[in-house]
Amino acid sequence: MTRSMGKITVARRVVQVFVLVLFCLPPMLAGWGLAGLFAGGDGEVATPAEGAFFGSLSSSSVVGVPLFDPLGAVEVMAASRSLLAASALTGALLVIVVYGLVRGRAFCGWVCPVNLIGEGVDAARRRLGIEVPERTVPRRAKVGVAVAVVLLSALVGFPVFELISPIGAVNKGLVFGGLAGAGTLLAIVIAELLVSRRLWCRALCPLGGTFQVLGRAGQVNVAIDHDACIHCDKCTQACLADPVILAPVLAGEDAIVRAGDCMACGACVDACPTSALRFRLGRPRRPASRKDVNKM
Ligand code: SF4
Ligand code: SF4
Repeated sequence: MTRSMGKITVARRVVQVFVLVLFCLPPMLAGWGLAGLFAGGDGEVATPAEGAFFGSLSSSSVVGVPLFDPLGAVEVMAASRSLLAASALTGALLVIVVYGLVRGRAFCGWVCPVNLIGEGVDAARRRLGIEVPERTVPRRAKVGVAVAVVLLSALVGFPVFELISPIGAVNKGLVFGGLAGAGTLLAIVIAELLVSRRLWCRALCPLGGTFQVLGRAGQVNVAIDHDACIHCDKCTQACLADPVILAPVLAGEDAIVRAGDCMACGACVDACPTSALRFRLGRPRRPASRKDVNKM
């Protein structure tokens, strides 16, 4: 059955595509062409690094301010056994503060191209009638993967995830024709079709694990109106992260989806037929009882 896209999902698609274009456009305009073909034509290929915006999702420069993905920054420090330059460290801290305040995994839901591809494959799979089991996956495993990646980087003296990361692979492939990360991307697509929905994003991605930890402080949360809920389960079926993270609110034990795993993707809000779910700002204390939940 085909699902129509809700308003939040449409907004999310616009942001996901905008971010992809934002990262691809500067090097393309500087003459790198498409997939590394026709780079520079007859002349020398210019470097776009002097422009107002340049980089990848791992590290970029916005009007001269460097931004670093926090896992990559820790990997580099572990591998080199030294602190990053102060400006780079500030760039990583800026990312941590912004996503930490909004919701860590908003990066996964609104920015990461791997999620965009995963959702595309999921939609194609449903259209083609390919069934995959909705397995319970160890979603905290990705935090362990993040720790393992840092330890391994320290051991081998190289930021190991950056070598196989599928996250930057999309725009690097589109612009430069680079194949680093393409194998990981292919494995993710195969797993999506044959093993389990969103296996990579739910259980394995170390960057998702890093943002999952930050998500515990996020101020943008999905809240429920228990009186409006008819327990149809459409929200859990739509959830991009893991259906179990909605269980406490549906059971009346909490007023907001508290799990750091929530991507603030809004798929549950879009799917709810009674508008029982909505986004709210703030993180009320976990209520002691159902009575307290209803007062909120
Ligand atoms: S709980 Fe809702 S907003 Fe959070 S990941 Fe699931 S579908 Fe997205
Ligand atoms: S989709 Fe809405 S009405 Fe259905 S179970 Fe979820 S919150 Fe309740």
